Amino acid sequence: MATFKDFRNNVKPNWCPGCGDFSVQAAIQRASANVGLEPEQLAVISGIGCSGRISGYIQSYGFHGIHGRSLPIAQGVKMANRDLTVIASGGDGDGFAIGMGHTIHAMKRNIDITYIVMDNQIYGLTKGQTSPTSAEGFTTKSTPSGSVESPLSIMEMALATGCGFVAQGFSTDLKDLVSLIEQGINHKGFSFINVFSPCVTFNKVNTYDWFKEHLVNLNEIVGYDTSNRGMAMQTIIEHNGLVKGLIYKDDKKKSYQEAAHGYSDKPLTGTDLKLPEEKFNEL
Ligand code: SF4
Ligand code: MG
Repeated sequence: MATFKDFRNNVKPNWCPGCGDFSVQAAIQRASANVGLEPEQLAVISGIGCSGRISGYIQSYGFHGIHGRSLPIAQGVKMANRDLTVIASGGDGDGFAIGMGHTIHAMKRNIDITYIVMDNQIYGLTKGQTSPTSAEGFTTKSTPSGSVESPLSIMEMALATGCGFVAQGFSTDLKDLVSLIEQGINHKGFSFINVFSPCVTFNKVNTYDWFKEHLVNLNEIVGYDTSNRGMAMQTIIEHNGLVKGLIYKDDKKKSYQEAAHGYSDKPLTGTDLKLPEEKFNEL
């Protein structure tokens, strides 16, 4: 049986020392081993950004896609290679700006993959511009007088879209993050895990200390019920999205594969993909 070390390769990450993405990489490797996967049973598909490099740093199948397009690729990989466990990953810029249309529709479509976003409230790869989750007043190279836009409440959006698994982690809480990723992989349907993953180089506001001071652990809210969507929405609004833990899980919602007529878990073969001759002639 594989251990987390089997999910390591010999590529040295070129993230800045202290970047939150290191912990997310470690958490994916540990969670994959903990749920009993072998490296050849996992595919990590990423978008563009500092976090997008993650697919090259894990010993598994990998695909470093194009900007904002990790989800269409990941869904295609899962539908064609049905035995694979598929993790899509990227940053807040990748998933919530250029890729937002795909994010919403992947949540709605509910194909059985796990989407992990490394949310640092900034564009790191392009050296520090305001992102969709940056706070109002946030000063960067693209908003020298402070951002006048309000940040996107991504957790409210996920719940409104009908996403059946919504969680939020913090990159230094490795044990909790590993557990959330395990739960996400095991959930039958689309699982969304937003991870606060500080950019130590360009975001001097949303630091590790800032998150430690502001994040509320849902496990410590007495009576919090992860199957209650209304309670989840209300709690997120009350805490301005700054919560960590499993926010909402709907075990009854059918995944796309379970709901689709004629879907089989069998891997597709060349014959399955070939158009019958009579259909071809109709074209
Ligand atoms: Fe991480 Fe920021 Fe450095 Fe990118 S620029 S590797 S997000 S710390
Ligand atoms: Mg970012």
